[in-house]
Amino acid sequence: MKLYYSRLQIELTRRCNQSCAHCCRGEAQNIDLTKAIVDTFFEKNDIYCISNLLFSGGEPTLNGEMLEYFIDKIIEKDIIVYSFMLSINGLSYSKELINGLNKLRDYIILKSNSEGYYPGILMISQDQFHKEANQEVIEKLKDLPYFSPIDKHIIKEKNILPYGRALENGLSKQQPDLSNLTNYQKSYKIKEYEGTTYLVIDYQYISANGNIINNGCESYDLMDEYALGNVQDQSIEEIHLKNQVKKLTLK
Ligand code: SF4
Repeated sequence: MKLYYSRLQIELTRRCNQSCAHCCRGEAQNIDLTKAIVDTFFEKNDIYCISNLLFSGGEPTLNGEMLEYFIDKIIEKDIIVYSFMLSINGLSYSKELINGLNKLRDYIILKSNSEGYYPGILMISQDQFHKEANQEVIEKLKDLPYFSPIDKHIIKEKNILPYGRALENGLSKQQPDLSNLTNYQKSYKIKEYEGTTYLVIDYQYISANGNIINNGCESYDLMDEYALGNVQDQSIEEIHLKNQVKKLTLK
């Protein structure tokens, strides 16, 4: 069965060089996505399309090498991608991360055969919680065609996610809601098209430790607790369809 992702989010690292008071992840962890995890993911799964590819962390520039490696695999496997997106915190730069994004942009434009198409966005998070971005980093990024101008803004309390450090610091107006982690049956469909069967996944999060998660907005601890499985142990099809997913219930 081929995989069709509407959105796939890859957590490159759980390390970070900031400690924002509103961070929904909680304390940073010394865990990076590895070549072994990426290799296993592409070996075990027949991926047809990733409509929207998101990268996140932690701070993605601290493991830019693995972003480039992941994109090299996409190109090698000739997987369709339509768009990409990531935010960085602007304190650090990664040559490999930019190499990877440049390759992905060129690849998407080549495959879509449309020169004027802007398939990606790279943003720097700047708000009342993040430190001011490093000017040298901005200089290196500012002429990239997919770099989004810095938008310094205030995050309203109602928009702060109630997990991790934000929860500890009492910064959010929301209540934790884990239904997005547990409603995994709603996030996929099986479709037949011209004799091929597709597992169509609305959204999936692959954590730096290989865990597969149904939602990527919570703390590392919650995401690990409610992981559907791990790419190193099973294919995505096995995780979703062969009764391997444990019965997830809210605790
Ligand atoms: S919000 Fe982003 S930059 Fe801030 S501590 Fe969390 S992962 Fe790091």
